Amino acid sequence: NKQQPTLLVTGGAGFIGANFITYYMEKYPNSYLLNIDKLTYAGSTANLSEVAPLPNYHFINGDITDEALVSEIFADFDITGVIHFAAESHVDRSIQDSKAFVETNVVGTLNLLQAAKRDWEKKDMLAERRFHHISTDEVYGSLGEQGKFSEDTPYDPRNPYSASKAGANMLVKSFGHTYGMNIVISSSSNNYGPRQHEEKLIPTIIKKALAGEPIPIYGDGQNVRDWIYVNDHCRAIDTIYHQGNSLETYNVGGSNEKTNIEIAEEICQILDKLAPEYRTRTSSDSFKDLITFTEDRKGHDRRYAVDDRKLRNELGWKPTEDLKTGLQNTVDWYVTQWKTHLTH
Ligand code: NAD
Repeated sequence: NKQQPTLLVTGGAGFIGANFITYYMEKYPNSYLLNIDKLTYAGSTANLSEVAPLPNYHFINGDITDEALVSEIFADFDITGVIHFAAESHVDRSIQDSKAFVETNVVGTLNLLQAAKRDWEKKDMLAERRFHHISTDEVYGSLGEQGKFSEDTPYDPRNPYSASKAGANMLVKSFGHTYGMNIVISSSSNNYGPRQHEEKLIPTIIKKALAGEPIPIYGDGQNVRDWIYVNDHCRAIDTIYHQGNSLETYNVGGSNEKTNIEIAEEICQILDKLAPEYRTRTSSDSFKDLITFTEDRKGHDRRYAVDDRKLRNELGWKPTEDLKTGLQNTVDWYVTQWKTHLTH
């Protein structure tokens, strides 16, 4: 029913968006949700198999840069809020070719802002209806061994992906300040969990290990990332969307700072127990021996870590998944997914 108050989610066929929609529809079973996703290489409707049959879930295969389509969505549905995930998200791809990153992440965000502003202004709802941009701690740049990014850390993006996300954040903020739109931004650290595209670090480690191929780790493996379980991030988004203050940014962290090599070793240990039958492809006792250092990523940020006390103290959120259990669940999920495709 198109006249029901409807939450518009963009990029919901991707990793975090699909986990979020699945979480949201379970938590709010009577709400109406519309997902627009272009289904690029990174998106898949298979990620949404649990919600697809629901009558109050609606999917549109479309591009957020398409002005006519986005306007039509706001004309046809009563969009009462936007949670904007859609993005080109892979740093390595942005280093190869950054155009799609600017188109989707910057121009696409602007297009959504303009359509929302037009519709909500007409309905005199500009200050009530919320536009939530899902962003990243990468906009803050790179840290040394000490310190953390706070919400006030100036943006200092170092690769085309993070530059495009910083640009989108700036536009979102400007619509809040210039037009009085009710905007909020959440900047999270690295997510892990089920449904992530296999090009990203953790799925790559699992996939290569199961295939008995070298597990590629950039540089010296000492780059530090803070890891958050995707479900903890989904709960944070729910909290910020419903309770966050307009014009504010909230950092979202997992309090799990690890070097890339630590993550790879931890996953190998889990696989040693969980899938020893696949080790017959290797000659050694542990998947760890497959870890191989490769030429470093250009402009590779050394360390990210976020200070998320604002979200914890003001809105009462905290992550609940410890890294060991979260990784265990994640590895379990991929092994089950891929078992059918792999012979050992
Ligand atoms: P993803 O690449 O898995 O999914 C992105 C989704 O957006 C895909 O389904 C894709 O089809 C869709 N999409 C891309 N271009 C589109 C367009 N022009 N129109 C409509 N849909 C389009 O990404 P993800 O990891 O789920 O990240 C989601 C959001 O969270 C992104 O904005 C990203 O910047 C942000 N983020 C991700 C992480 C992380 O660790 N993955 C961390 C912090 C922030």
